[in-house]
Amino acid sequence: LLFSECLSQDRKVRALPLSGHVGLDALPDQLVNKSLGQGFCFNLLCVGETGIGKSTLMNTLFSTDFENLESPHFEPRGKLRARTYGLRENGVQLKLTIVSTIGFGDQMNQQDSYQPIVDYVDAQFESFLQEELKIKRSLHNYHDSRVHVCLYFIAPSGHSLKSLDLVTMKKLDRKVNVIPVIAKSDTISRAELHSFKMKIMSELVSSGVQIYQFPTDDETVAGINGVMNGHLPFAVVGSTEAINVGNKLVRGRQYPWGVVQVENGSHCDFVKLREMLISVNMNDLREQTHARHYELYRRCRLQEMGFRDTEPNRKPASLHQTYTARRQEYLREFHGVEEEMKQMFVQKVKRTEAELKDAEEELQFRFERMKRLHQQEKKRLEEKRRILEEDMNSFNKMRAAVELLQAPSFSTAGKK
Ligand code: GDP
Repeated sequence: LLFSECLSQDRKVRALPLSGHVGLDALPDQLVNKSLGQGFCFNLLCVGETGIGKSTLMNTLFSTDFENLESPHFEPRGKLRARTYGLRENGVQLKLTIVSTIGFGDQMNQQDSYQPIVDYVDAQFESFLQEELKIKRSLHNYHDSRVHVCLYFIAPSGHSLKSLDLVTMKKLDRKVNVIPVIAKSDTISRAELHSFKMKIMSELVSSGVQIYQFPTDDETVAGINGVMNGHLPFAVVGSTEAINVGNKLVRGRQYPWGVVQVENGSHCDFVKLREMLISVNMNDLREQTHARHYELYRRCRLQEMGFRDTEPNRKPASLHQTYTARRQEYLREFHGVEEEMKQMFVQKVKRTEAELKDAEEELQFRFERMKRLHQQEKKRLEEKRRILEEDMNSFNKMRAAVELLQAPSFSTAGKK
């Protein structure tokens, strides 16, 4: 309205005052109504060893009973399981995807336990990018599966973080908003918990792990977010059991010495987590995922694909030019590799030929030697045979002589 008044003064035209109200103030309502109609989606990744309380916390957090299959400790390789649920509260619809690690850290060799998680996060970015790059894209009804937050479950050891925790969080911190939580915090004393929290934070800082910080740039939530940043990592307790405490049913865990109440701020930080994660910062988590983490992934991938931003004074390269340049580069690389493979093949053939020739010569040499040995043996046997024949001859002669000598004496005796 101010703008229209200025225009009419400049042109010296008499402005006709508008009778009704323009309705700019209805824009927020239009946005709210549209969002309510479309519903929201939120994707939450739970990382932690088997049995640390991931499923129980999810049930407690969303006050429902998601189907939970108990995971064994014998997975040969860690993997992830994603389940999507439709939730509704006061007319607001939420499409919630919970992704949970299975067998994380259960293997003897834990070196690459983080890999399936990193691969999953990247795969969701990649499918969003592929949708964005389509000529006919339909982002309005695309199921965005990019991970908005990663709850990292720390075992309540009271000591320090395991190296697996540090490595995994470090691998994830540039891809997803990481919020560490101390699981099953009812198993650790208050004093131990205090020093454990401090130890964890100092270890994260010294290892350069950047966990998600609740934003303090929006003044409506700056106060609470600032305070809550000081309470990280939240120490949580999960339970689906309803227990009667002072005539009131509460969620808690019953022990012989008392009840740990999940929603009691002096027992654990569950309520703090729920508020920070859902009612105060869910939208910021979604925005950060798109504006920071996905942006970084997209930039690296587009650079990999050969896209470059044009400098201010240069004509922007068309998609076709980029494609042609990239194709030529690919063909050059391909021919290089082809040539290299040809060379390798020729060399291999030459080597094999030389080896075959050596083997043939070796065989010939052995054959000659065997032939020589055979001839020597034959000669020796022939010599032996000749000697034997001579012996036989002389023996025969001797026998004939003996027979001759014996013959007359018999005949003389016969005549007598
Ligand atoms: P997941 O394998 O990480 O999903 O672990 P579950 O949620 O199935 O929990 C494994 C066991 O830990 C179950 O017996 C739960 O009752 C128990 N549990 C879960 N949360 C807590 C907790 O906050 N404190 C204690 N003491 N036990 C818990």
